[in-house]
Amino acid sequence: MPRNFPLEKCRNIGIIAHIDAGKTTTTERILFYTGKTYRIGSVDEGTTVTDWMAQERERGITIVSAAVTAEWKGYQINVIDTPGHIDFTAEVQRSLRVLDGGVVIFDAVQGVEPQSETVWRQADRYHVPRICFVNKMDRVGASFERTIESIRQRLGANPIAMQIPIGEESAFEGVVDLLTMQAITWEDELGREPKYGKIPDHLLAQAQEMRAIMVEKIAEFEDELIIKFLEGEEISVEELKQVLRRAVIANKATPVFCGSSLRNKGVQPILDAIIDYLPSPRDIPPVKGVDPENHDRVIERPADDDAPMSALVFKIVSDPYVGRLAYFRVYSGKVVQGETVLNSSKNRKERIGRMVRMYADRREDITEVYAGDIGAVLGFKDTFTGDTLCDPKHPILLESITFPEPVIFVA
Ligand code: GDP
Repeated sequence: MPRNFPLEKCRNIGIIAHIDAGKTTTTERILFYTGKTYRIGSVDEGTTVTDWMAQERERGITIVSAAVTAEWKGYQINVIDTPGHIDFTAEVQRSLRVLDGGVVIFDAVQGVEPQSETVWRQADRYHVPRICFVNKMDRVGASFERTIESIRQRLGANPIAMQIPIGEESAFEGVVDLLTMQAITWEDELGREPKYGKIPDHLLAQAQEMRAIMVEKIAEFEDELIIKFLEGEEISVEELKQVLRRAVIANKATPVFCGSSLRNKGVQPILDAIIDYLPSPRDIPPVKGVDPENHDRVIERPADDDAPMSALVFKIVSDPYVGRLAYFRVYSGKVVQGETVLNSSKNRKERIGRMVRMYADRREDITEVYAGDIGAVLGFKDTFTGDTLCDPKHPILLESITFPEPVIFVA
């Protein structure tokens, strides 16, 4: 079975949020808009997101399982669950380690909350590129600007506003996309099709001013662009996106978007941004590990299907329908059904039996999982979270999951 998506078209992302900011709601919307049933139009008119969620649950697929695969505009997006209670736990660190990028959700009323600070610093430590989504723009007291300011000040980040809201609180209708200078609104109550149109007259001046700020901030990342900017030359949308993508991957900038996932507004632009700005497994440095026999010998493995296999088990889930599932991320090579792999953390061999990939609306049996991708294998008895799987002929122990010293925040 060939790889179903080229590596450049894969994204392993986590949705990271302070509890209550809207991680569940946003994840559900992402799965709804990317769901196969919805895309081929077989969802009955009038079916609500909530009905759809209930149906999926009946079919036995947990919406937020350890990792769910979604497809968007020809890309494969693996949404890896990050624990809701952000803490200095091995679980959080492990999930940050297997994902390549994060969508950080903020509540537009609360702005940056203490837990967001904690997770932000952990993501910094693991060099996880991030985009931000300011959710709950429909709430009384919501402010996009104030939330961006708190991202800048409290997190010491370099946020770049990519949108401005059209209306706030109960009048929140949609967003202006500052790159293309289009208004995006959602007329359908379920927010299925974004509608692109003209910027409302009363927002035009503000949008122009905010666009100039955005362009300048992006141009600053490259000498050539800043010269163009200063000389008043036009910089194309594509060029801006490419430069911003590089800056995000280098952890130098964080683009910020807004919406209300409960009101079904603003979610598709986040999916587009995941593709545009977050890295593919090819964009991140090769994984590092050590020789299990000699921990001083460091080994690197590129995200290449032909390299010796290395993978990390990041979660064990007892699935009521299929049994004990070990979720793993492949860093190099491929995991093939029927082959024997070495669990180098336990020095035991395991045979790869049935493997599955979870979608929001189905579970698919798969026979191979390639470099950069996520899979789940059934029937492993002696393998636990944090274990390395590798080619027995080319053993490697992936960097052990170390606990960083706790960071003490002084109030
Ligand atoms: P989580 O704890 O981060 O997973 O947050 P949830 O998705 O469970 O949302 C927490 C609460 O906020 C729930 O009551 C949601 O209905 C509500 N909520 C989520 N998104 C929005 C939004 O865009 N606007 C408003 N007003 N409420 C929201």
